[in-house]
Amino acid sequence: MCSAGGPADIEIEEGVQGKSYICNTCGEKFTTVGKHPMCPSCQSEDVTPA
Ligand SMILES: [Zn+2]
Repeated sequence: MCSAGGPADIEIEEGVQGKSYICNTCGEKFTTVGKHPMCPSCQSEDVTPA
């Protein structure tokens, strides 16, 4: 990890492009990597690729 200062609340590593999803349960828009996207807000797996 390279900490250059500044906000660092994003856990996605540089060079890894996440996919955008919209939660069908709460409407949360989020970006994640991995084969099983889960809403960070309500932990629902009922999501749609955006
Ligand atoms: Zn949700």
